Amino acid sequence: MTDTSIKTTSPEVAATWRAATRLIHGEVERTPYGETSEALFLTSGFAYDSAEQAAATFTGEAVHYQYTRFGNPTVDALQRRLADLEGAEACVCTATGMGAVSSALLAQVKAGDRVVASRALFGSCHWIVANLLPQYGVETVFVDGGDLKTWDEAFSRPTAAVLLESPSNPMLDVLDISAISERAHAAGAIVIVDNVFASPVYQKPLELGADVVVYSCTKHIDGQGRVLGGAILGRKDWINDTVLPFTRNTGNALSPFNAWVMLKGLETLNLRVDAMTRNAAAVADWLASAPGIVSVRYPGRRDHPQHELAVRQMSGFGSLIAFEVAGGQEGAFAFLNALRIVLISNNLGDARSLATHPATTTHMKIGPEERARLGIADGAIRLSVGLEDSADLIDDLARGVAALKSRGFAH
Ligand SMILES: *Cc1c(COP(=O)(O)O)cnc(C)c1O
Repeated sequence: MTDTSIKTTSPEVAATWRAATRLIHGEVERTPYGETSEALFLTSGFAYDSAEQAAATFTGEAVHYQYTRFGNPTVDALQRRLADLEGAEACVCTATGMGAVSSALLAQVKAGDRVVASRALFGSCHWIVANLLPQYGVETVFVDGGDLKTWDEAFSRPTAAVLLESPSNPMLDVLDISAISERAHAAGAIVIVDNVFASPVYQKPLELGADVVVYSCTKHIDGQGRVLGGAILGRKDWINDTVLPFTRNTGNALSPFNAWVMLKGLETLNLRVDAMTRNAAAVADWLASAPGIVSVRYPGRRDHPQHELAVRQMSGFGSLIAFEVAGGQEGAFAFLNALRIVLISNNLGDARSLATHPATTTHMKIGPEERARLGIADGAIRLSVGLEDSADLIDDLARGVAALKSRGFAH
């Protein structure tokens, strides 16, 4: 074994690895010190040996880091590992998940273009499509993502890009990524899938026919509620020619410190997501038979409207649940205020269980009509199930049910 083989991943060996091994050993490039844990290059700039080397770096004749907004070894390490995990040719990391969504769209479209998006989107994604893109002369169309006929109608004219989320935030609608991608490609569009709810562990949109995957790495990838970050994954030529000039020049760069935290997060990603998912399945089943719970939405349950589609395109059902309590907003607030372990927080994918009331927080701005169209009832609660003991979580949720009873919303 040569010295350098210890410092880098051998591609022949790595080709046989499964996800859990890739999350730890994928695409390693060590410094000459041979460190085991990835080095943190917390630096904004890089020095050159000579003015000639600096000049050659800027013309592209020499390969050298220039400035962390353009590239950084720790951020590169995360990008390589994420691309390897996703099965993507290339990855660009961004300052936040919204940085990933906005850059993927804004780098791709120009005035006069058309963007089609599923209506069921994260609040800020919805704002970008509804408000920001039209401001730059981009026509945008929302469709009811679950109805393939409405996609067909939307694709009756040439389209530059499609944005969708599956499962969607907060009501966990599952969309047919293959069928939508096929139709989008016929209309000339690239398909961007926000894969946060499924996580890279359970859904591979590129294998299903999508062109681009975006993540808020803030969620399961960090997974411990510490730092913000995002990622855009896709074909190498599209990343290099379309996305990188945009992110580098507009300043949408991930901090090397955050990248390093994310690299540590990846080492336990599948363990955490699997454990959270086991908890979520147990909690969803308990909620479904609890008094005062009007309905439960979890893609792993047979009563989820797109359960069969979820079985087809996901290898696991994730850590998020949506449920509706009796008593509307009053019932939801009473339920949330009674919890002692589950925190009231609009983040998700954290080791700690977090619950939020979408109608008054994440989806407050879209207004009551749009919420009704998306099925976000005033009594709806989104629960991100964490790593606690599921029996303790169920005891905690029973406090919420007791609060519904004491107000006469459950018997
Ligand atoms: C959180 C989230 C985002 C935004 O990510 P940030 O890191 O908060 O900017 C985008 N899409 C979905 C589905 C999310 O849950």
